[in-house]
Amino acid sequence: METEKVKCLIIGSGPAGYTAAIYAGRANLAPVLYEGLQPGGQLTQTTDVENFPGYPAGVQGPQLMEDLKAQAQRFGADMRFGVATAADLSEAPYRVTIDGEKTLEAETLIIATGATAKYLGLEDEKKYAGMGVSACATCDGFFYRKKVVAVVGGGDTACEEAIYLAGLASKVYLIVRKPYLRASRIMQERVLKHERIEVLFEHNAVGLYGDNGVEGVHLVRRMGEADEQRYDRAIDGFFLAIGHKPNSDIFKPWVKTDEVGYIMTEGDSPRTGIPGVFAAGDVADPHYRQAITAAASGCKAAIEAERYLSERGMV
Ligand code: NDP
Repeated sequence: METEKVKCLIIGSGPAGYTAAIYAGRANLAPVLYEGLQPGGQLTQTTDVENFPGYPAGVQGPQLMEDLKAQAQRFGADMRFGVATAADLSEAPYRVTIDGEKTLEAETLIIATGATAKYLGLEDEKKYAGMGVSACATCDGFFYRKKVVAVVGGGDTACEEAIYLAGLASKVYLIVRKPYLRASRIMQERVLKHERIEVLFEHNAVGLYGDNGVEGVHLVRRMGEADEQRYDRAIDGFFLAIGHKPNSDIFKPWVKTDEVGYIMTEGDSPRTGIPGVFAAGDVADPHYRQAITAAASGCKAAIEAERYLSERGMV
């Protein structure tokens, strides 16, 4: 298999990966970045991004990612198509296989592979993607001011998103498949006593309808039971909050992960515990999952990589 040696290898092309590439490029680390399955990451699936500092009029998600990429290329980052398919982090240099056909030997590795929001798997989620279906209330909630929305899920994320949306929307339905919420007690209490949130326990969303974007949801109460009921509710927005899957599978044998698969780093640093291997962005962040927090952690990872290399006289 073809082998190539690099000083700084970045896997992933969301805000974390591109920001790491900007910093690593400016620090003369000649970073090589593999973009992964979805070049530009999750933000390429959103429309307006209004909360990334520096864009007073907002920016389209794909445009923001193009800008970050161009900025990294300006400093010599080598951007490549390709997906990391295997990793061996047993010793430096760290070996990462790309597309099963090429091996990179990296002195430092920045894992910025992101996370993927889970969807229910309904055809209508694809049909109305960007037209009323979202997996990020903080990104898209603003567009539903004084409107009616539904959030699916019963965990802390769903409760947080429902509360956030209830500050904007006129009404929030929380669609929960079980007869109880899984969220922490304090979040449950806040949801249950919120006047604009109505929790629909033992409900499943089975489809969406609407001629111009989402206009309603098909619901089933007590699905599969003798007293099952099917009915529709008019909504303008449909938010998924049923969990994220961090894209950490190939690194799991080497780095510490939590029970969901998020890479655990040391304190608020991007250090994984393996010298020279760092994790940045959503793959290591179960809590904030924002473009700006991902970018910040990519910056930290590149600074750490630069320090690691300079301490060893490699730059
Ligand atoms: P969780 O896995 O905790 O909850 C997922 C929710 O989605 C559950 O209610 C689950 O239902 C439901 N769900 C999953 N699949 C489906 C499906 N196919 N159809 C309908 N419902 C479905 O994920 P979260 O993202 O909420 O939280 C992840 C972790 O992050 C947790 O540990 C959480 O505590 C933590 N977190 C902490 C926060 C904080 O402290 N501020 C904020 C956000 C998250 P069911 O219960 O039936 O399985």
